[in-house]
Amino acid sequence: MSEKNLELMDKIVSLCKRRGFIFQSSEIYGGINGFWDYGPYGVQMKKAIEKLWWNYMVESRTNVEGLDSTIICHPKVWKASGHLDQFGDLMCDCRGCKARHRVDQMEDPSVCPNCGSKDLTEPREFNLMMKTFVGPVFDEDHTAYLRAETCQPIFVDFNLVRVATRQKLPFGIAQIGKAFRNEINPRNFTFRSREFTQMEMEFFCTDEDAMQWYEYWRDQRLKFYEMLGFSNDVIRTYDHEKLAHYAKAAMDIEFKFPFGWGELEGIHHRGTWDMSQHQEFSGEDMHYVDHDNKRKVLPVVIETSVGADRSMLALLCNAYDEDTAETKKEGQEEDVRIVMRLPAIIAPVQAAILPLSKKLNENAEKLFGDMARYFRCEYDVTGSIGKRYRRQDEIGTPFCVTFDFESLEDNCVTVRERDSMSQERVGIDQLRMYLDKKING
Ligand code: ATP
Repeated sequence: MSEKNLELMDKIVSLCKRRGFIFQSSEIYGGINGFWDYGPYGVQMKKAIEKLWWNYMVESRTNVEGLDSTIICHPKVWKASGHLDQFGDLMCDCRGCKARHRVDQMEDPSVCPNCGSKDLTEPREFNLMMKTFVGPVFDEDHTAYLRAETCQPIFVDFNLVRVATRQKLPFGIAQIGKAFRNEINPRNFTFRSREFTQMEMEFFCTDEDAMQWYEYWRDQRLKFYEMLGFSNDVIRTYDHEKLAHYAKAAMDIEFKFPFGWGELEGIHHRGTWDMSQHQEFSGEDMHYVDHDNKRKVLPVVIETSVGADRSMLALLCNAYDEDTAETKKEGQEEDVRIVMRLPAIIAPVQAAILPLSKKLNENAEKLFGDMARYFRCEYDVTGSIGKRYRRQDEIGTPFCVTFDFESLEDNCVTVRERDSMSQERVGIDQLRMYLDKKING
């Protein structure tokens, strides 16, 4: 990572902590590597990302259903999926500095990327599944696993969802939820965590249509990133050359993080692998009876799989900006404004209600109550108006609404826009419509 990007990453991490977006889990105990807590603004933003994904992938479509499955499933699920036998990485340790590395991520596997030593242990297999026990006895028979991905329960529940919803092929099942991986080397802030949230959609179709659906979902997902304001400079696709033996096609959508290009989302044509594995291991018939064509087919799966945490990190990196603010006076040092240019639909606070004086609290609080029914709002009464604008800029609030003494006379408020810093007088009775158009329009 270049000096400049390292500095940028440090600034983002420190802003996230200072303003309550993301901080280390169990910090007072020294933290726990690979686990992160989302603070008051972070949780609002993460929920907004999930809500947007859910609306785009499930609610706005007639051919995708939702699911919320358990984190712990029958251990056989992970036997069938191959996770227990194959879900591992090769790791090695440096005897010099004691750093642990994933071999596939080392540029030169014979040299420690941390200290340059060549004194490395032999690469050895390491399974990423997190283990626990279910029931009172802690032995092999009671071992269970925290799910390593949210999609396996989708395959397992396929028949139940299909019958309950009377869906016919092609259709999809989506889920948002926690996944756990005992990553060897958690790093780059939340990019590689040990507990994270996935947003996955498995689309079931016939073999003949599968490639078309693969391309359709790739385009849909790219459109989603366009909606989030990611330009072509920071988003690219990467087609896998080496495919899993069952896969017909696979690609990553990558984002340009300050630490380099990294996978944001995977799109996979998984063939009939998932359904045939679960059929074999459970004994349940996973075929779909295609009455129209009088045949039985094993559904082919097209998967779109993205991390909510990585999406949030990408949004934070894309949004971070510094500019020299309008308040700079001659002879003074340059005044830097930190501004998170987050899309309004994702911003943790969409409108800040700012009474110019405490004397205006009663009216301003009423306005806050009215607006908070429709938007994520914050009420801030402390400090000069300039300071309050700055605080909101730093967390990415797209609109600041100032209630002043004139508001009592003319029933208008001043709406200040984050990026242009332009100000506009808007009638209080028009405010909801005004903000709705700007935020959701
Ligand atoms: P990587 O190669 O980075 O380990 P992967 O190819 O194993 O990722 P998938 O199994 O395809 O990832 O998971 C789908 C998505 O889940 C990823 O694109 C990413 O957004 C998210 N994800 C996977 N592992 C992690 C992790 N350790 N921390 C945060 N998000 C993750």
